[in-house]
Amino acid sequence: MTGNWTIDGVKEALAAKKVSARELAGDFYKRIEERNPELNAFLALSPERARRQTDRIDALVAEGKPLPPLAGVPVAIKDVISTRGITSTCGSKILQNYVPPYDATAVERLEVAGAVILGKTNCDEFAMGSSNENSAYGPVKNPLALDRVPGGSSGGSAAVVAAGLAVASLGTDTGGSIRQPGSFCGIPAMMGSYGRVSRYGLIAFASSLDRIGPFANRVKDVAAILQVIAGRDPNDSTSTTAAVPDYRSEIEKPVKGLRLGIPKDYFAEGMDSGVREKIEAGIEIFKKLGCELVDIRMPHTDYAIAAYYIIATAEASSNLARYDGVRYGLRVDGDSLISMYRKTRGAGFGAEVKRRIVLGTYVLSAGYYDAYYLKGQKVRALIAQDFRDAFTKVDAILTPTSPVPPFKLGERTADPLQMYLADIYTVTGSLAGVPGISVPCGKIGGTLPVGLQIFGPAFGEARVLQLAHAFEQAGGATV
Ligand code: GLN
Repeated sequence: MTGNWTIDGVKEALAAKKVSARELAGDFYKRIEERNPELNAFLALSPERARRQTDRIDALVAEGKPLPPLAGVPVAIKDVISTRGITSTCGSKILQNYVPPYDATAVERLEVAGAVILGKTNCDEFAMGSSNENSAYGPVKNPLALDRVPGGSSGGSAAVVAAGLAVASLGTDTGGSIRQPGSFCGIPAMMGSYGRVSRYGLIAFASSLDRIGPFANRVKDVAAILQVIAGRDPNDSTSTTAAVPDYRSEIEKPVKGLRLGIPKDYFAEGMDSGVREKIEAGIEIFKKLGCELVDIRMPHTDYAIAAYYIIATAEASSNLARYDGVRYGLRVDGDSLISMYRKTRGAGFGAEVKRRIVLGTYVLSAGYYDAYYLKGQKVRALIAQDFRDAFTKVDAILTPTSPVPPFKLGERTADPLQMYLADIYTVTGSLAGVPGISVPCGKIGGTLPVGLQIFGPAFGEARVLQLAHAFEQAGGATV
């Protein structure tokens, strides 16, 4: 019964005393015990912390007090997000025993709103990857097709929700890591605008791109989680002071008459024919809902992957300099300070992280900075301009989330470039800072999920959620 819970459902069951928060969390832990050995989606469980929270919620119920919006809702947190007292490894050996002394703001807000944190989810090391195969703790399996990847880097957060091991979860998205695993695991998953959700406590990969966002089994629950975690945080100077709209009421608004852009540049070569078929069927649903479809151009799309992998690796090389064996994390002693640094970083980081540190250091080095990093930043500005131009003509943009359906474990690990190229539809919105959601849009051959991506203008989360909700209500998941 763990698979069918919604946020409203939990609240109603608690209020009607059909189940206690403690019993519900217990049911989820039982299910996790059964399924996790196969899926490898949880890296750590936090039953004591969950117990403190369920006791608080059950006391509110017993006293007949009003319940907070996420009362008793079992959630899971990606392991790159700091949780006080619970290991936060970032999927890396270098942080194997790291226990943060504080909570990320998003985690703190979830708990204040009544959510019950079950544990931490597996991910690509430092969120670098698209398949969850770069985790030092082994890959996660896709619960819908066990021989396939769940997507990445937030593969564990997507898998636990899809498998009914949590009602919702938090992931992070730097170049697609929420939207793509959402698409691969057949659930809605959302990245808000850059600045919409505080990054305080998010262990940095590429700070100008990193964002925290929710996974859930339906759009309404994605909206409910975003509602709680969004908003200004004095601990993150890039978090916006813009007011947080009431997403849960906004999503009910009719979508008739909205103008939706279809970027020709995204429907080019390289898209799997099965994905194309489902996305075209999905677009038809919007037509039936009374939306107007508009052909648009996003002329700088071809340069997005190159710009993303320059900017993201440059920032990563700087952010990951802090893992030096001195302050926290792994330390491998050597006969000098330099040799200790070398040994620690050599043993602690995996191959993909090392590749990116080397690449990022290179693009920032004297003589190459102008040719690569500066050029990358200029391309980023052009891509952001593509989006601004498009949003003068349309209310939202529709694209596939991924050019391919979930692939087999091991199928793409030998060729990092092939892995990078699969990020083509997601990195554009990351570079532009706009919000994007992936919503389920049918299954190829009835088994392999496809995700439809909806982009909105900066801080247009309500519009994105409204369209995703209408699509879901109109049967988008089964086109
Ligand atoms: N797949 C992309 C990468 O490997 C995106 C990762 C992310 O969004 N964290 O960088």
